[in-house]
Amino acid sequence: MAGRELDALIQIFAKLPGLGQRSARRIVLKLLQAPEARLVPLARALADAARAVRVCSVCGNIDSQDPCSICADTERDRSIVCVVEGVGDLWALERARVHGGVYHVLGGTLSALGGTGPEDLNVASLLMRVSAGDVAEVILALSATVDGATTAHFLAERLAASLVRVTRVAQGVPIGGALDVLDDGTLATALLARR
Ligand SMILES: [Zn+2]
Repeated sequence: MAGRELDALIQIFAKLPGLGQRSARRIVLKLLQAPEARLVPLARALADAARAVRVCSVCGNIDSQDPCSICADTERDRSIVCVVEGVGDLWALERARVHGGVYHVLGGTLSALGGTGPEDLNVASLLMRVSAGDVAEVILALSATVDGATTAHFLAERLAASLVRVTRVAQGVPIGGALDVLDDGTLATALLARR
């Protein structure tokens, strides 16, 4: 139906979250109907983003600078580190504006079924941050799934030897729900009611 270039574009959109073949075709058609107004600016924005994207060497956040803008922000409390599974969770907590400390992005959870072990996650770098001595509290803001709970338990054990205080977000977090899908109020309550 469409040429090779257009089909490649449709397939890229179709793989994005919330989209399928049908939505992808509609988006591409919309872009093509006004190339100068939509397609060209999109291509430019994508190229700029691809050039600028950096993974923060301190916390694992995605930003256009390294260290990321959160780690580089001197107003933030570096003694409180909030551990999250992914960058989407970090962004959700930032939107809720309840955490004045810094973050550590694990990159997933431990999973026996999925074959994900501690060496596949940013665990070593977290332990190094803590042993460097500037951290007073580690907040485990992991989702309330079996894997999330297993990961929280594992981290709490690994951190027990250090003098750091380890807290977990309260279970306002629905079972099986990732932090990213929660509304800001629920997130705020969960974080403030940590223990
Ligand atoms: Zn960072």
